[in-house]
Amino acid sequence: MTRTRKRFGQHWLNSDKVLNQIVAAAELKSTDRILEIGTGTGILTRRLLPEVAAVVSVEIDRDLCKKLVKKFGEIDNFLLLQGDFINLDIPSLLKNFPKFQNPNKVVANIPYNITGLILEKLLGSIVQPAVTNYESIVLLMQKEVGERLVAVPGTKAYGALSVKVQYLASCELICDVPAKAFYPPPKVDSVVVKLCPRIIDKPVDKPKQLETLVKLGFANKRKMLRNNIKSLIDLDELTILLEKLQINPQARAENLSLEDWINLSNSYKKY
Ligand code: SAH
Repeated sequence: MTRTRKRFGQHWLNSDKVLNQIVAAAELKSTDRILEIGTGTGILTRRLLPEVAAVVSVEIDRDLCKKLVKKFGEIDNFLLLQGDFINLDIPSLLKNFPKFQNPNKVVANIPYNITGLILEKLLGSIVQPAVTNYESIVLLMQKEVGERLVAVPGTKAYGALSVKVQYLASCELICDVPAKAFYPPPKVDSVVVKLCPRIIDKPVDKPKQLETLVKLGFANKRKMLRNNIKSLIDLDELTILLEKLQINPQARAENLSLEDWINLSNSYKKY
């Protein structure tokens, strides 16, 4: 077994069942160009390579990279990029590798400590959605975060992250993954989630405004929405607005659907 480095969030997936679930969720085609984040020992990479046109895989750990070059170096639809996924300028690194450019899918068992940064790099933000080519992004991640991504209004997991990510992508829970599916087992359980970036053809009128609204709206989850955002919108006006949008004036942030957030943001143009 390859030794693991804690600071890189290294937990090797050790379950054929989960590998099958990840690969099935990605609906691989022979023309796909895959981006993988965190190659590790290459257990997932090995499954992807025979199915697709190209796999470009990013791994930060130099020692692992040396081993990976020995393992997969001869395979001509494999390209390894050594470095920190968050900081790498992948399109420019792929300039001389046409076969690997513009990956159309992401499939990865990611390091949990940088999940937020990975999501932001892949999807962008409400203010600046990422311009990419991804049809789908299948990620194995910490259960608690995955549950927030797929959460529906009115549930405990539904929060600012749910609204932000669901604005950018449709989110689907694929399966639960117990800690024992890894070596060494992480302290938390995991899930596989599939995100399909939306083509935002009608972006919200003022993206910055929606971002602020969501952030403040969820700032204190026990308070009613109107109390959380009263610094933003005058209470009387808000009451009229909520009525117009058929949102209960007593609602908490967790009761508002994505559509409600967008409508609310679009309709207080005065500010
Ligand atoms: N895909 C493998 C490994 C998952 S563990 C498997 O399923 O077994 C996460 C991997 O991400 C580790 O190999 C770790 O070294 C790598 N990693 C951690 N931080 C990274 C970063 N910033 N950029 C690229 N890879 C990173």
